Amino acid sequence: MIITVQKNFSDLLMQTTDKDKIFIVGCAGCATKCNTGSEAAILEIEENFKQNNRIVSGFAVLDTACDIRVAKKELIKNNNFSEATIILALTCGAGIQAIEKITDLKIIAGLDGLFVGTTERIGVYNQYCSTCGQCIVDKTAGICPVTRCSKGLINGPCGGFVNGKCEVDQEKDCAWVLIYEKLKKTNSVNIIKDTYLPPRNIVKPKNIIYKKKDIKQ
Ligand code: SF4
Ligand code: SF4
Repeated sequence: MIITVQKNFSDLLMQTTDKDKIFIVGCAGCATKCNTGSEAAILEIEENFKQNNRIVSGFAVLDTACDIRVAKKELIKNNNFSEATIILALTCGAGIQAIEKITDLKIIAGLDGLFVGTTERIGVYNQYCSTCGQCIVDKTAGICPVTRCSKGLINGPCGGFVNGKCEVDQEKDCAWVLIYEKLKKTNSVNIIKDTYLPPRNIVKPKNIIYKKKDIKQ
């Protein structure tokens, strides 16, 4: 999921005036799991706004804010949204840009999007994938060296690890030691011994348009 953190409230406050009617949009997807755009997070920010003489006209937690169809369906019919003079989006950047499609009002970005994360437990998220566009983890025991090796080596290791820790960051496990240990469990270390992974073509498309017949629902 997209890992987000909230911006400083004082930065959000500065972008509003006591004449504004602020409508807050959250997201029931990733931002709720991160508790940055959940209903609870919205209520807390709403309270902070009120204590600073700001008017919050209403809020909505969209099912998936990054889906323009959802944003349209859930916001257009909301009277408080229609009356708003400014929007605060507690969503990732993809969500903001879905909301932007349906309003000309100023939108304040309330969150910073950090990375695509894997959840260890609530509140602990790790970046294990950089969405590089050409996945190779089937050759590396399901562990991504592009993201988890400090040097992004796809034919590692670099030889600098000490006691299984990365030479660049001693707090971090060497991704290639993890890969090796995992492959050992299935007697498959020859995969990395015998396989040279060629440089990847990481030029990625900026959009995808499937033909209707290719979409299975
Ligand atoms: S190789 Fe790594 S960064 Fe690329 S898509 Fe696979 S998991 Fe993500
Ligand atoms: S020690 Fe391991 S994780 Fe660190 S840079 Fe070298 S190969 Fe990559």
